[in-house]
Amino acid sequence: MVKVDPFANATKQVNDACDILKIKDKEIRRYLAIPNKVLRVKIPVKMDSGKIRIFTGFRSQHNNDRGPYKGGIRYFDPEGGVEYMEREVMALSSWMTWKCAIVNVPLGGGKGAIYVNPKKEKLSAGELERLTRGFAYKISEIIGPQKDIPAPDVYTTGREMTQIMDTFCKLDGNKYQPGVITGKPISMGGSLARNVATGLGAAYTVREAAKTIKMSLKGAKVVLQGFGNASTFAGINLEKMGAKIIAVSDSRGAISIPAGAKVAKILEHKKKKGTVVGFPGSKKITTEQLLTTKCSILVPAALENQITAKIASKLQCRILAEAANGPTLPEADPIIYKKNILVIPDILANSGGVCISYLEWVQNNMGYYWSYDEVAKKMEANITKGFKDVYARSKKYKVDMRKAAMVLAVERVTEAFDQKGIWP
Ligand code: NAD
Repeated sequence: MVKVDPFANATKQVNDACDILKIKDKEIRRYLAIPNKVLRVKIPVKMDSGKIRIFTGFRSQHNNDRGPYKGGIRYFDPEGGVEYMEREVMALSSWMTWKCAIVNVPLGGGKGAIYVNPKKEKLSAGELERLTRGFAYKISEIIGPQKDIPAPDVYTTGREMTQIMDTFCKLDGNKYQPGVITGKPISMGGSLARNVATGLGAAYTVREAAKTIKMSLKGAKVVLQGFGNASTFAGINLEKMGAKIIAVSDSRGAISIPAGAKVAKILEHKKKKGTVVGFPGSKKITTEQLLTTKCSILVPAALENQITAKIASKLQCRILAEAANGPTLPEADPIIYKKNILVIPDILANSGGVCISYLEWVQNNMGYYWSYDEVAKKMEANITKGFKDVYARSKKYKVDMRKAAMVLAVERVTEAFDQKGIWP
């Protein structure tokens, strides 16, 4: 077993929330922390060479007290190997339960994975399809539009989602059931606005945070770490609210743009040069300088474990909007709280994605599709309310926003469990 156990972290967060809520019963705590089911499957695949290769996959179903399990399927090869991946999938499924509860969508938490890195291993399209359909076959008994609804995650796309949907429908007597999976291409029953969902949702939470601390977004300075899907759509939508981007980064480096620049212009440069570095009027800076730039809003939207205790002590932002998953280390939290920086924790800031996945599922179930604006408006309502509910808990219990988010989520899941009880 590897040193860092993500499932132990997830369990600690549940216990911390239980402490605040005075839930003392150890068995209730175990009920909340441990997944309902973790399925481990063997997936034999005939490779292009004609040889058979055995892959290992997982689906963890954490909690469905509030609705069907929901969560991505990733193709990845974490350093700790297959055993580590199992613990990671269990933790990720737990975070999905809490994320869905915070934005109050009637779904539970799930997560799946296959231990493979399709990019590194250069799997062919045929090998990838056989692997995907093999996995879909193995988990077909436990997924379904009213049971468990997977979605894309690391190194999986709309193509894999379509193949899983097609395999599931064929196994079930060719019944058309697009709601078995979300993140599908529009042509296969996907939702409008899904591509912008995470960044747009993050921008809505920043708007609410700014109102809360009475900070105007007109001319507010924004720093974006990462320049991919989540960060660029967060940036574009913050610009629409009046803010200005003054520093950005990607995997090739970080830049400061003192005069500010439009995301569209930086994107144009990145398209030509393959990186944001070298953007006219910019200066190259280090990652530490980027994260500690004096600004109104810092949006880490790239990697986990970026904000260490050292970086936290030097932060100069007023709002920290965690579009990325897990960008802040636990030891940084108390430092940030003392500095009076308003944190929008990842399970809230990047929940626009799961909100629109939920709306995709609703549209699939009714067989009727909404316009872009209708979808965006519904997501805005969920995420805005989510922000307000979390903020209210942070004031009520005098805790940071991360703990407050978990408190809200545990409250909601416990309420559902209390109503249902145990059967059989
Ligand atoms: P993406 O692949 O579109 O973009 C990632 C960006 O990060 C790229 O611009 C890449 O160059 C940059 N990057 C990589 N290494 C970096 C480094 N060392 N320093 C600075 N930048 C670096 O990915 P994404 O979908 O935007 O996801 C970003 C984060 O948001 C991840 O943590 C992801 O889990 C989280 N997230 C995304 C979604 C979504 O719907 N896209 C939903 C929930 C959470």
